[in-house]
Amino acid sequence: MSYIDKIITDIEKKDAGQGEFIQAAKEVLGSLKIIVDQDSVYEKAGLLERLVEPERVVVFRVPWIDDAGKVQVNRAFRVQYNSAIGPYKGGLRFHPSVNLSIIKFLGFEQTFKNALTGLPMGGGKGGSDFDPKGKSDNEVMRFCQSFMTELYRHIGPDTDVPAGDIGVGGREVGFMYGQYKRIVNRFEGVLTGKGIGWGGSLARTEATGYGLVYIVEEYLNKKGDSFKGKKVAVSGSGNVAVFAAQKAMSLGAVVVSMSDSNGYVFHKNGINLDTMKEVKFINRERLTKYAEIHKDAVYTDVSGGRVWDIPCDIALPCATQNELFIEDAKKLASSGCKIVGEGANMPTTMDATEFLLEKGIAFFPGKAANAGGVATSGLEMSQNSARLSWSFEEVDAKLKNIMCGIFHNIDDAAKEYGKPENFVAGANIAGFKKVAKAMLDQGVI
Ligand code: NDP
Repeated sequence: MSYIDKIITDIEKKDAGQGEFIQAAKEVLGSLKIIVDQDSVYEKAGLLERLVEPERVVVFRVPWIDDAGKVQVNRAFRVQYNSAIGPYKGGLRFHPSVNLSIIKFLGFEQTFKNALTGLPMGGGKGGSDFDPKGKSDNEVMRFCQSFMTELYRHIGPDTDVPAGDIGVGGREVGFMYGQYKRIVNRFEGVLTGKGIGWGGSLARTEATGYGLVYIVEEYLNKKGDSFKGKKVAVSGSGNVAVFAAQKAMSLGAVVVSMSDSNGYVFHKNGINLDTMKEVKFINRERLTKYAEIHKDAVYTDVSGGRVWDIPCDIALPCATQNELFIEDAKKLASSGCKIVGEGANMPTTMDATEFLLEKGIAFFPGKAANAGGVATSGLEMSQNSARLSWSFEEVDAKLKNIMCGIFHNIDDAAKEYGKPENFVAGANIAGFKKVAKAMLDQGVI
């Protein structure tokens, strides 16, 4: 049995029940055979055993009191996955589905993603099964304060720097930062995604969505093409989705659809982003509201169809893991879709990914395509350390530069290892090589 197959068998046994984590690990390890099975140094150093095992997992309870005066208890996690190339860095997710498997898969992916940015950041991820939907601002604040009352002892600007993710935006980061500062009595860059005016970076909010479009644009440019006139289908209607749509539109694309967990809207002549932002960000409403406002938009409930039913040139899954299945991939391919760029983390199932690659559809995996968010978090950390504030244009230019750099890095790695245009292999190999070298240099730790 090869070294890689042995590791896969081990995690299937040891982490049985952690479906998302096993899926993510298999996807990465599958691309590494070409390197790891040809050089015994990795096996001798037990490198893969160490790579798949987080350095530390913290699980804690979060008690808080709701508006009715009742005590509620949630479960929370911080997985500090790998610090070979820098302090742990990765977001916090508040969603009822959060469990150890999901946080481990996200932290594992984050390790390679952060390596691809070229910035000195290790991988981590955290979150809680708390659902901010339907909670008052005061309830969200009490939860965030209680969450940070435990988390603060495990993080720090040179140790672990969390950020937002699903369910954690500017409001939640603000409440958590306030509590951290109150406990440690220091104003320091311990979280990213902070508000402008108290340590946040301009363009951080836009960064993941913009970065996704920049990497796809670089690919299109290489082919002598552009976003102009392209029909783009986007899933999700949160932070990543909205700013991916915004940047694609600014480059001349027509974004025809967006979704949430209840359904999707199809707006033939293009989504109206002002309405979308008001519905989702300001009023925190459902997408049905969008279709009530725009009578020419068609809303379809999840039971009636899928956002990928809509013909498009470019699909940008930006909602959550495992939201683009093999049937969706087949529909996209048959309707003429040429590019899939993952704004979310692991939105495409493994069989769907393989199918898209076989069909010659350019597929940009999340660990490369959505790295713009964490890259800009890295820029926020630099600004915090130097006590500087760069302009929106400066940060945006650096982001674009990083995303173009990632494109060429994964493109080159794919070619070097005999898999041209396979950006899944390219991203996994390029990310792994950087992390593995640092781990080998630092000895068995
Ligand atoms: P938000 O909370 O802002 O938005 C999430 C969106 O996805 C919402 O529209 C939500 O709909 C939808 N969604 C969530 N769960 C499901 C589900 N089970 N089925 C269908 N739709 C769902 O999160 P973000 O935009 O920040 O994150 C989206 C994805 O991007 C995640 O995978 C995240 O890990 C990834 N990502 C985010 C980064 C960032 O900077 N924010 C950086 C890199 C990756 P509803 O409102 O109905 O829940």
